[in-house]
Amino acid sequence: MKQSATFIPTLRETPADAEVKSHQLLLRAGFIRQNTSGIYSYLPLGKKVLQKVEAIVREEMEEAGSVEIAMPALQQAELWQESDRWYSYGAELMRMTDRNGREFALGPTHEEVITSLLRDEVKSYKKLPLNLFQIQSKFRDEKRPRFGLLRGREFLMKDAYSFHATTESLDETYDQMMQAYKNIFTRLGLNFRAVLADSGAIGGTDNHEFMVLSDIGEDTVAYSDSSSYAANIEMAEVNIDYNRPDEAVKEMEKKETPDQKTIAQVAEFFGTTADQCIKTLIFSADEELVMILARGDHEINDIKVKRVTGAKVIEMATPEQVEALLSCEVGSIGPVKLPEGIRVIADNAIKTIVNGIAGANEAGMHWINVTPEEDFAVDSYEDLRFVQEGDPSPDGNGTIVFAKGIEVGHIFKLGTRYSEAMDGTFLNDQGKAKPYIMGCYGIGVSRVLAAVAEEFQDGKGFIWPNVITPYDIHLVPVNMKDEAQRELGEDLYKLLKSYRYEVLLDDRNERAGVKFADSDLIGLPIRITIGKRAAEGILEVKVRSTGETFEWKREELLDHLQQFFKI
Ligand code: ATP
Ligand code: MG
Repeated sequence: MKQSATFIPTLRETPADAEVKSHQLLLRAGFIRQNTSGIYSYLPLGKKVLQKVEAIVREEMEEAGSVEIAMPALQQAELWQESDRWYSYGAELMRMTDRNGREFALGPTHEEVITSLLRDEVKSYKKLPLNLFQIQSKFRDEKRPRFGLLRGREFLMKDAYSFHATTESLDETYDQMMQAYKNIFTRLGLNFRAVLADSGAIGGTDNHEFMVLSDIGEDTVAYSDSSSYAANIEMAEVNIDYNRPDEAVKEMEKKETPDQKTIAQVAEFFGTTADQCIKTLIFSADEELVMILARGDHEINDIKVKRVTGAKVIEMATPEQVEALLSCEVGSIGPVKLPEGIRVIADNAIKTIVNGIAGANEAGMHWINVTPEEDFAVDSYEDLRFVQEGDPSPDGNGTIVFAKGIEVGHIFKLGTRYSEAMDGTFLNDQGKAKPYIMGCYGIGVSRVLAAVAEEFQDGKGFIWPNVITPYDIHLVPVNMKDEAQRELGEDLYKLLKSYRYEVLLDDRNERAGVKFADSDLIGLPIRITIGKRAAEGILEVKVRSTGETFEWKREELLDHLQQFFKI
């Protein structure tokens, strides 16, 4: 491609509203432009990289037995009403009305559409399993679109859905998808982990997120320093056998603690540490108010609280609810001398407290020398807290460490959540109607582009890996007015293209400084500069990733390039 004929609007200045490197450089190097919050155009270079990411995804999906289709982005509300997600998906669903008053949504995902498609066509176990995918724009009215392509409101997703007659068949496909995802992210050169994830409202058993480890990630991955255990922090279990220490139990006493509000303040006031204090929270679990206890040095994970209580919706109780229940404010509550009928669920680590400190359900007062089972009852001990760095890995191997992760993919065993709600059934080998057993598998293709862009750059510009670089070679005649340079440029451009290299020829009448700055910014793997020694057939070659420079004779060029690109 000749640079004079394409559209690469580079910027010298860093756009003020772009916070992360990938976003800044994608704008500066002229790969993308923002249309409005969370909505972007891909310019020629951005589109090329996107297509290469897509191609890798497509190849691995097909290799794993998934078949490409294309479903509509515009989806009638009736389908979403059948699955009930019209009511539960919330404000993220982009809704609209047609000229006749009929409601639609722009698809954020396609479980409804594909289930409705198959239920009319696939009626026998003989036609199962089936695994279909598409690569398509998705729409989500995100509360906080940010970091450019990382969290958009319109973004490109590869979504696949599989349909099965048996759970064994789903398991098999799930494993194949897991392997396909590993292949994809490995080919892209990303440092990733497949982590156990929360299945949220949908339920289901197996569920993994693919996280690219990165400082700008929004998720926290907890992983073992010496095994393959990795989980989203929301999910990571704490598997520690806590016991009561061998210590004499003292008589409980109520003490005045004026103005001591936080756990840290209370611990300091009594000259002790946070792990001797009982943190008490009241959750509203569907209709019930439940008391949750954790040690002062631990954080309660509400996803675990939700699972343990079995509630559909879980929220912190309001100050009014707490006042009505315990006649005090939220900051003063504790588990001692409770009114009848309040369920108390304690994190396992509470067992280690002997003669600890707890709120007295009275403003400005705390109990000291409080011991569980002696001074208050616990209905059950559960794993309720977030894992911490330094905890033993729940698989028994090694210690937990944290890393930030960008979720680039998600695979999910859906089971019969959609097929039951939407009457998607097939006849099994006994002629009985059964709901399809389903799986779904997503990759944020445009988010992957941003994750790669974040990883492969050095602040000055991109350092594209060979597999997804927009072009292989940047051919830069320094001075287009110099005939020898111009001709050698044209000549090499044709030659390299005939050898199937993708070449960007900077044929613009720009100053050398501008051409080099743009070239560093765009970051193609190899730059060939055609300068003063063009007449002698000598080329200056720079490898973007290492910064190495070479002088190659024209005759040697193809051999060297073949070595570098290994083709
Ligand atoms: P997140 O937790 O980041 O909001 P999600 O759990 O809602 O993501 P899924 O519904 O699992 O996402 O969608 C599949 C994939 O689509 C995700 O793994 C992610 O890579 C990508 N994705 C989701 N939301 C966005 C978005 N707003 N912008 C870009 N990619 C996204
Ligand atoms: Mg997800």
